[in-house]
Formats: sequence, structure tokens, C-alpha cells
Amino acid sequence: MDALEILSNLDSVFPYFQPIFSADEMLVIAYEVLGRFQSEGEIISLGSFFDDDEIPDEYKYEVDLLLVKKALEKALELDEDVKIFLNRDADLLMYDYGESFLQELLAFEKRGLSLSRIVLEISEHQYQGDLDQFDNLLHYYRTYGIKIAISRLGREGYSFTRIGRLEPDILKINLQALKSTSTGTNFNDVLFAISLLARKIGADLLFENIEMSYQLQFAWKNGGRYYQGFYLSPPASDFVAPDMLKNRLKEKFHDFNLYEKRKLEAVYSMAEVLQTKVLEIVVKNKKAGYEELLRAIAKEMDEMAFRMYICDEDGFQVSGNLFKGDDSWHTQMEYLNKNWSWRPYFLETIIKMRNDRKGILSDLYCDIETGESVRTFSLPVFENNYLFIDISYRYLFEHDDLL
Ligand code: CA
Repeated sequence: MDALEILSNLDSVFPYFQPIFSADEMLVIAYEVLGRFQSEGEIISLGSFFDDDEIPDEYKYEVDLLLVKKALEKALELDEDVKIFLNRDADLLMYDYGESFLQELLAFEKRGLSLSRIVLEISEHQYQGDLDQFDNLLHYYRTYGIKIAISRLGREGYSFTRIGRLEPDILKINLQALKSTSTGTNFNDVLFAISLLARKIGADLLFENIEMSYQLQFAWKNGGRYYQGFYLSPPASDFVAPDMLKNRLKEKFHDFNLYEKRKLEAVYSMAEVLQTKVLEIVVKNKKAGYEELLRAIAKEMDEMAFRMYICDEDGFQVSGNLFKGDDSWHTQMEYLNKNWSWRPYFLETIIKMRNDRKGILSDLYCDIETGESVRTFSLPVFENNYLFIDISYRYLFEHDDLL
């Protein structure tokens, strides 16, 4: 597309709006503004125009400001609780220190559009300028009630430090990466970390590019409060009915709930089965030493477990490891007296076991030594001691409710 064609036909530049849905109300709570251009009867995206480094900033600036103006003019029709997401490239935003853009927003504020409805989708992937100055500008915008979203997460990878420093209101995660299975597992783990971070800094997660049902399910499961994508509603020149998906989302969430509950039930009943089984062996071997007890358990759980040991309340191992090598179980005494209280969830698990006097099957996590996805079953045994049994990936794989 020729930049000059666009600049000499500004009448043909206009905004498209893509709805953003909320999980809590299942309504359209916002629209993202996207640039379009009508050329010989065809409507084309202005994305490549704005991404093109060859096109001078002043051209982009002019087109962008026009888009903002046209979009906000139309947004005056919307209910007052619907937000407007505007894409802001750092370079463009810094062009005149954001002054004309802000003046434009303030003009609309006078006409009744509260600036607290404006969300800036910041993308700074090519920005070479001074980050402090840029942060100051964002801070200044925020004093007007304007919200900040970080976009392109999951595509180019923001550093956690940067996210922590910007303290965005919203983290926008692109689900395109979820399509290729090769990045699947990794993406899952990174996303889990992002969702924890979001929770700590009080940001909401918005998942975009949802194109299929499983991506919506993924977004729902990973703490997504807001959803956007062709699967829900494509960008269009007009607004949609706010409740257009209410019933469909209700049904979807119901299905997702059923599925997850079934999995949680499987984990729960597995824990009960293990508790009965292991306690029986513990009672039978009351007088035996730790190693003898572990060997007795290994005999019964040969198919399932690959490592077991006993810790005291402070996380010190009071037994060695009993570890299943290629074929047989052997004792690793070098683990005696090692401490595990520093590991995530360790003390929470101990306290929970101590209070409930019940076994717990952990979440799925990556074993440090074997690199495989495993779960750990833990159980209070004897006075103030706790037994840990690591369940192998092979077993979990064969019982995929547990994966
Ligand atoms: Ca965007």
C-alpha cells in the first residue's frame, strides 16, 4: 500500500471497532479501535502502514490523529461504561510529547467522554528513545484517569521488570502463540508466571486473538478477565449489542466448569485412594525403620512412584531417598538431612497436612532432577513426620485426568 495514496485520500481513512468481552458480566465492556482504509472498493487494514519503518512519523501521526478523532466521535454513541482501547506506539506517542493527542482527548472530555474510559494499548517494541521520559508521559496521562494496557505480550516478551515498573492496569496477551503445539508447554508456564505477576500488581488479563473454542477455554482457565478475537466477534465499522454473547458465554463457561471440576475430582479421589493405600502399609510397618517402610511402599507402588522420602516439620529429610532407577529401587543416603522448606508451597502443604491429618496430591510441576512433569503425594506419618511420594509422568500420562 502506498503511503501517499493514504495521505491524499484521508476521507477514506476510518476506524473499525472490535468488541472486548468481560468474563464477570459476559458483556461487551470495551472496543479496540483499529485503522482501516478504503481503496477501490476494498477495505484494508492500516496495520502495515503504522508498522512500516520507512514511512515518516509525521505521516503516521497525521493519519493516527484523524483515526482517533473519527473513533471518539462515534464513541459518543456508546453507553458511558464502555471503554475505548487506542493503540499507541511509543515512538508516535512521543512525537510531540503526546500533546496534540492529549488536546484531542480533552476536547472530547468537554463533550462528555470521560477520560477514565480511555485505555492506551502501549507497544514499545521498536522504541529507541528515553524510557524515563516515556514513563513520565504515561504517568502524566494517568493523572487524567487514562488507563494503561501493555500489548503484544506473548509475542515479543516484555521483561518482568518492565511490567513491574509500568504497573499497567491491563496485560494484553496474544493467543496466536498457542496455535503451534511446539511452544505449547512453554507458553503455558510463562503464562502462569504472567498471571501470578498480574495478580501481585493488580492488573487484569485480556486475551486477544481468540479464534477457537479451546483458546477461549485457555483464557478462562488462566485468569483472563477480558476476551477478544474473531471467535467472539470480528472488528466492524459498527458497534454490537452489548449482550450479543451473553447466553453463549454462559454455556461455554458451564462446559469449562464441568471439565475442570471433573479433573479436580479426579485429583481429589486419587488422593483419597492413595491415603488409604499408603496408611495401610504404614500401620503394618509401624515398628520398621524408615528405609524398610519406604521399601514396603515401593513394593506396592512400583508402577506409580519413582521417588519417596520422609521429612520432619521443618523440611529436613529424616530418611534417605528411595529412588527407582532404570529397573530397581535403591537408597540414596546423600539426601539424608537435606532441607526442602525453601521450596514453593512446602510449608503450606505441611500446615495443611498437620491440621487436616490428610494426604495431599500436589499440582503438576516440573521435577528439578528428571525434568518431567510430576505430582507429589504427601501424607502425615508418625509424630510430626511427613512422607513424600513422587508420582511418575508415565503413570500420570496413562491416567490423563491427572495431567
Ligand atoms: Ca492492539
